[in-house]
Amino acid sequence: AAKQTGKNKLVAYHSLLQQPFTNQVQMETELRQAIIENQLMLYYQPRLELSTGNIICLEALVRWNHPTLGLIPPNEFIPLAEESGLILSLGEWVLREACLQKVRWLEAGILNYQIAVNISPCQFQDEGFSDKAIHIIEKTGIDPSYLEFEITESSIMQNMETTIAVLEKLCNKGISISIDDFGIGYSSLNYLKHFPIHCLKIDRSFVQNIQCNKDDLAITNAIIHLGHALNVQVVAEGVEELSQLEILKETTCTTIQGYLLSPPVSVYEIERSFDQYNNRPVMIS
Ligand code: C2E
Ligand code: MG
Ligand code: MG
Ligand code: MG
Repeated sequence: AAKQTGKNKLVAYHSLLQQPFTNQVQMETELRQAIIENQLMLYYQPRLELSTGNIICLEALVRWNHPTLGLIPPNEFIPLAEESGLILSLGEWVLREACLQKVRWLEAGILNYQIAVNISPCQFQDEGFSDKAIHIIEKTGIDPSYLEFEITESSIMQNMETTIAVLEKLCNKGISISIDDFGIGYSSLNYLKHFPIHCLKIDRSFVQNIQCNKDDLAITNAIIHLGHALNVQVVAEGVEELSQLEILKETTCTTIQGYLLSPPVSVYEIERSFDQYNNRPVMIS
């Protein structure tokens, strides 16, 4: 109960200090403005390949740098963006910015990794999604094989035929597809044999307790072996502790993301700390 009170208190202070939006309409208006005025920014979190100790991918994660409220995390505005339809223009902004950033890094000859971009279910189900995405990719001039789209199971369970068509179109362009938050959706596994998928990202909720909960460990293990059998990459999300990393190595997990290596960081910070990382002695693997 004490913990509960503490939590509520924190929220209250947070609200007092930051004067949040008075209502949803105001927030929506401001978010619409934010997309146009470039108040959104992308942070990047590295994905590490355990066999080599190399970073192989950076996941782009959006933040809203609000002029008075400061940095707002995606969980506080993505749901509203989805409800209001703003997710379509937000998603286009994210993809364009990620592509442009990759082009900048290529030109600078640094951070030569794949870029993973999150695609919301509403965005994925939008009829024009694949064409818009391909248009952005062509406009920015990025080689599509540098891109991975992270989609969730709920994105692909609506209409099997449409989904296959969209995924194959993207795949034929050279874009990789990963299933984000794998294991917490309500879908059957049937889709795995029909869809061109390159990667399963084990949801953090399983990973966070693998040291102490044998069910979570069993599920994590099963997903890793499923991935091996299907010949897809498996990423453990949310790895925070060395003990978790040790277990993941034992279970033959191939790649990890998480605070243990790095939280998502700004472009400035990732350029400062992770360029040349792959040429340095490996820190944690
Ligand atoms: P996600 O795609 O599953 O991203 C992973 C989230 O887990 C990120 O939160 C990341 O900061 C957090 N995380 C990573 N490692 C750890 C760890 O070791 N411990 C803990 N506790 N957390 C960790 P973030 O950046 O707040 O994003 C939350 C969610 O918002 C994302 O989950 C994704 O679903 C959504 N999101 C973020 N950016 C975008 C975007 O550009 N477009 C769309 N459609 N959704 C986005
Ligand atoms: Mg993701
Ligand atoms: Mg995830
Ligand atoms: Mg997610």
